[in-house]
Amino acid sequence: MATGWHTVIVGGGAAGLAAAIFCARKLGGERILLLEKAPRVGKKLLATGNGTCNITNRHADPSHYHGADAARFCAPALEAFPPSACVEFFRSLGIVCAPREAGREYPLCEQAAAVLDCMRLELAALGVTERCDAAVTAIRPTKNGFTVHTADETVSARHVIVCTGGAASPSLGGSAEGYTLVTALGHRKTPLFPSIVQVKTDVTYVKAMKGLRTDATVRFLLDGKEQCSHTGELLFTEYGISGPAVMQISRAVGDWERRKRGVMTAQIDLLPSFSLTDLTAELSRRPKRPAEHFLTGLLNKRIGQTVCRAAGLSLTDPVNDPARLAHLIKAFPLTVHGTQGFGGAQVTAGGIDTNDVDPHTMQSRLVKHLYLIGELLDIDGDCGGYNLQWAWASAYAAAQAVIGA
Ligand SMILES: Cc1cc2nc3c(=O)[nH]c(=O)nc-3n(C[C@H](O)[C@H](O)[C@H](O)COP(=O)(O)OP(=O)(O)OC[C@H]3O[C@@H](n4cnc5c(N)ncnc54)[C@H](O)[C@@H]3O)c2cc1C
Repeated sequence: MATGWHTVIVGGGAAGLAAAIFCARKLGGERILLLEKAPRVGKKLLATGNGTCNITNRHADPSHYHGADAARFCAPALEAFPPSACVEFFRSLGIVCAPREAGREYPLCEQAAAVLDCMRLELAALGVTERCDAAVTAIRPTKNGFTVHTADETVSARHVIVCTGGAASPSLGGSAEGYTLVTALGHRKTPLFPSIVQVKTDVTYVKAMKGLRTDATVRFLLDGKEQCSHTGELLFTEYGISGPAVMQISRAVGDWERRKRGVMTAQIDLLPSFSLTDLTAELSRRPKRPAEHFLTGLLNKRIGQTVCRAAGLSLTDPVNDPARLAHLIKAFPLTVHGTQGFGGAQVTAGGIDTNDVDPHTMQSRLVKHLYLIGELLDIDGDCGGYNLQWAWASAYAAAQAVIGA
């Protein structure tokens, strides 16, 4: 049995890599061991922001995070390591960030691979030991800390930081293993469901618009009551709807799907820049063409024809009721069937219950010197750099506690 690691970090994703750097900068890398089950660290990080890595968001405050107790739990870590600290941290690694819309920050080079490279170069320079193909199967408390078990070895450590991520995107390494490791130590888990995910709907009309993107306001309604709305790019797909306008508010659908109560519908405003009154007036003065061409020039042709069909018109029919068409354009209804599941999701909602974790240090309240960070916890952020910000901030909080212990 190898002995004497100061800290073992379980999981080499965003949170684990950051935690290793923070700890090693103060404690020396030779005392830190990073264990990763995949052949390489940071696989999910490489896929973030479509390969460009939306590294943080300048607006990251507790209001952008969800979970049973997210607002209270997130605040101390986000305060101690705000987005400005994140930008400085990455600058210290050689990554220069550039602001984009809605507070989003990306590396100027627009390469997630560069973010991973710079983190790995820093870990190597600090002398941190990184072991891949090393899935941790058990963490056992001992008199002086822990033993950490993989198929090939058992190591001992004073502190263990668990950052095994969530169940989202299994093709990028997402799995429920971390929950098993931590619940075996007495921690509770809240129900898991996919978030930032594509939504399956009735496809009777959607199929005809497959592949089209348009700016729209998407609303989700439960039993007719609006739950959330977002304006942005909408993508029609063969199974339903996707794109930023949907992904941003898809958490409500994931939650509904898990509860299986009530009827969920989507309402799509296909022309959010028009009021209903203005749109009705606009449609009333349009050239009196048959339905096939009536909306051409106002909406994408295929979308316009689909709206007319949904209004019960055949393409050769005249449009005699512009007010009805305007209503349909402003609130195109779709029955929601569910989400595309963890396979399509960017994050996992739910996770290890934060009531059992100290929000200032991320230390377990049940097992001393055990720290839980990142997506593993019952914390998920909005789309737009908030989830990585949580990974960095929670890693920083745990590292400060480990360093000071
Ligand atoms: C396609 C996609 C795009 C995204 N884009 C963005 C974005 O642009 N901005 C943003 O803020 N967020 C984004 N996210 C979300 C973000 O990537 C995650 O929230 C973040 O990576 C979570 O960090 P983590 O370290 O907690 O978990 P992860 O990054 O998932 O890392 C967990 C690591 O633990 C390892 N592991 C698991 N079990 C074990 C075990 N038993 N033993 C050893 N190792 C184990 C895994 O292999 C993995 O490497 C995106 C997610 C996806 C899927």
